[in-house]
Amino acid sequence: MIEMHDVWKVYPNGIEALRGVNITIDTGEFVYVVGPSGAGKSSFIKLMYREEKPTSGVVLINGVNVKRVRDWKIPHLRRKIGVVFQDYKLLPHMSAYDNVAFALEAVEVPTKQIQPRVEEALELVGLSDRMKALPSQLSGGEQQRVSIARAIVNNPGFIIADEPTGNLDPENSWDIMYLLEEINMRGTTVVMATHNKEIVNTMRQRVIAIEQGIVVRDEIGGEYGYED
Ligand code: ADP
Ligand code: ADP
Repeated sequence: MIEMHDVWKVYPNGIEALRGVNITIDTGEFVYVVGPSGAGKSSFIKLMYREEKPTSGVVLINGVNVKRVRDWKIPHLRRKIGVVFQDYKLLPHMSAYDNVAFALEAVEVPTKQIQPRVEEALELVGLSDRMKALPSQLSGGEQQRVSIARAIVNNPGFIIADEPTGNLDPENSWDIMYLLEEINMRGTTVVMATHNKEIVNTMRQRVIAIEQGIVVRDEIGGEYGYED
């Protein structure tokens, strides 16, 4: 479960990216975060994976206050949360296999477990035959599937995705969405910031809309609600 209680995020330049956000996301939910550019969507989800800390207010992940998590424990927090980015953020000199294995090595998973778990994750995303390829040898859709394998390989309770389809064509975007839907149906909570109107309006999940740092709409089975 993710909880935010009166959360403010004010950057050093004085910009108030979030202004008093209160939200609860239960285990197993699928949530879209929508809103205009600059509304605070990225700030909202960065607080969930502790990329940013709240200026005031409280963010709880399964009851743990992320602000109080000491820096050396962040890898363990990250193990509970898989993150997927618009630009994939794969390590360019490493194969698909090594990119996924790295996420296990970073949290000191026993060596014996690494190969079976990496292979299982890459199989789930349909890339068993591309394990040795470098990111530059893969299409955008394939790179995003590697990044999803990396995000799920630790069996996290949460997947946080910031515009995961932002660089993909419609067909690849839908493939990524079916994958995230399947991961969600296995019990993982998914929170996804997006500008993809067609996807939000077709999938009909919970929609949280943010404008100027404030949650202006929170609907189960909601719609995108903007023209862009
Ligand atoms: P969105 O994801 O909806 O585009 P962001 O959370 O990225 O919104 O940004 C919200 C506001 O905070 C914007 O005005 C943006 O320019 C500002 N902002 C975001 N990150 C930083 C930062 N690291 N330093 C200063 N201002 C930032
Ligand atoms: P850093 O301090 O740079 O975050 P990490 O060892 O935590 O170093 O992460 C190494 C790489 O793995 C980075 O490229 C990071 O983006 C990625 N990564 C870390 N945690 C996750 C996660 N939970 N989901 C997806 N990618 C992750």
